[in-house]
Amino acid sequence: MLAQSQQADVKLYIDGRFVEAQDGEYFENRSPFTNEVINRIAKGGQVDIDRAAAAAKLAFKHGPWGKLKVSERMVYIERIADLIDKEVEEIAILEALDTGLPISQTRKMVSRAAENFRFYSRMVQTRMHGEAYMQDDEFLNYTVYKPLGAVGLITPWNAPFMLTTWKVAPALATGNTVILKPAELSPLSANKLAEVIHKAGLPNGVFNVVHGFGETAGAALVENTDVEAISFTGETVTGSTIIKNAADSLKKTSMELGGKSPLIVFDDADLDRALDAAVWGIFSFNGERCTANSRLFLHKNIKDDFISALKERVANIKVGNPMNPSTQLGPLIDQGHYQKVTGYIKMAKQAGCEIIQGTIPDELKAGNFVPPTLLLNATNDMKISQEEIFGPVMAVIEFETEAEVIEMANDVKYGLAGYVWTNDMKRGHRVAQAVDAGMLWINAQNVRDLRIPFGGSKASGIGREGGHYAILEFYTEPKVIHVALGEHLIPQFGKKK
Ligand code: NAD
Repeated sequence: MLAQSQQADVKLYIDGRFVEAQDGEYFENRSPFTNEVINRIAKGGQVDIDRAAAAAKLAFKHGPWGKLKVSERMVYIERIADLIDKEVEEIAILEALDTGLPISQTRKMVSRAAENFRFYSRMVQTRMHGEAYMQDDEFLNYTVYKPLGAVGLITPWNAPFMLTTWKVAPALATGNTVILKPAELSPLSANKLAEVIHKAGLPNGVFNVVHGFGETAGAALVENTDVEAISFTGETVTGSTIIKNAADSLKKTSMELGGKSPLIVFDDADLDRALDAAVWGIFSFNGERCTANSRLFLHKNIKDDFISALKERVANIKVGNPMNPSTQLGPLIDQGHYQKVTGYIKMAKQAGCEIIQGTIPDELKAGNFVPPTLLLNATNDMKISQEEIFGPVMAVIEFETEAEVIEMANDVKYGLAGYVWTNDMKRGHRVAQAVDAGMLWINAQNVRDLRIPFGGSKASGIGREGGHYAILEFYTEPKVIHVALGEHLIPQFGKKK
């Protein structure tokens, strides 16, 4: 299964070349399934970030990238999509190997990643337009959108390829150059993207990848003065640190952060479909999903039946080798995260929750497996209901009235997503509008149109990705041009009468 190229050391990609870190250091990359070392990753630091940022700045200012017509630039963007399409299987395998996500799920994500490039090619050609105003027939004022320059992209380890392309596609399509700092726990698919972009023939320095740790490589990218903006996806605490560190160089920042999203089931809902959605929403992607419905609110009239059905599902979820096409739940990313998630389950038990779990077959004991877990009899004020666990663990909370469940849904620091299940459409809209979150779904699982903004409120983020938000509000700046069409009055200071 493991191709020779995947076992080889992974290098940095700077100025069109795959290179070692300046000091020649590497760190080990481990398999979530066995905890054995898969390969070694070049450990970039400040010097490497500075080289990559200088190359990106030069490529933006003086390279051919900035001079291309939009239609010419889009040829490259669409070529990247076509090359990803050809490599879907290999990238999906790499991603499953590196992250522990089941291969059936990584295949779907990688195909969607190719579509991100095509989508932004279309968006830039059709939606990147400004406004124009005539002012009293004397002036024409109009706006054009200009790329920022070299931008830094910092990504997390969950669904890394998909999330990375959400940033890289709009950044490049709008004409910026990029320095990508992937998560140290999931570095493999980022280099695959570098290979694809290299093959697509983008000019040197337009796209760079520097692997390394957050506190060193990531922090150096945030502080680098050649970098105009940072687009970050990751934990809320890291986001706040990055905003502080970006302040000295007055960088523009975009923050996609953590979540603790509610799924609310009223007693008139289509319970079979609500069950499918609740189970998929917390146990897909190993529960390592920012929009996971980690708090399930059940109306007291349907709670017992719903929980019985949930228990049956939990007992039958296929936990296994991420490379097996029938696996539904794989191992968590690393031992540290395994300790964190199991720590929350212990905490739930101490707080009085009843713990319902699936089982882990003996042959999987070497991996970071946490079985699908329900925390029954939870209350919204418990730590396990307030903090992001980021694993296959769902707190189940009873409610009686609409007002009470809205109050509880909002009584949390996060505001990323929310899900409402009811056949009373007036109530569906009312609750969706009342829950403080960036994205709400009524009678639906987490499906989304790429044209729609993605992002959260409160501690879940600042700004939005996706749609025209990425191209008009983050990766470009509007420039205003005022043109005099007539002989408007210009005060004549100092002129002799
Ligand atoms: P993390 O914050 O630990 O790391 C994310 C990235 O930031 C990594 O590349 C890391 O190396 C880097 N980093 C860490 N410290 C840094 C620093 N001081 N300066 C610069 N960079 C630094 O997050 P994670 O554990 O990799 O990812 C999981 C988190 O991401 C969860 O909280 C999840 O909810 C969130 N997430 C949010 C979204 C969203 O769209 N809102 C999507 C996916 C994941």
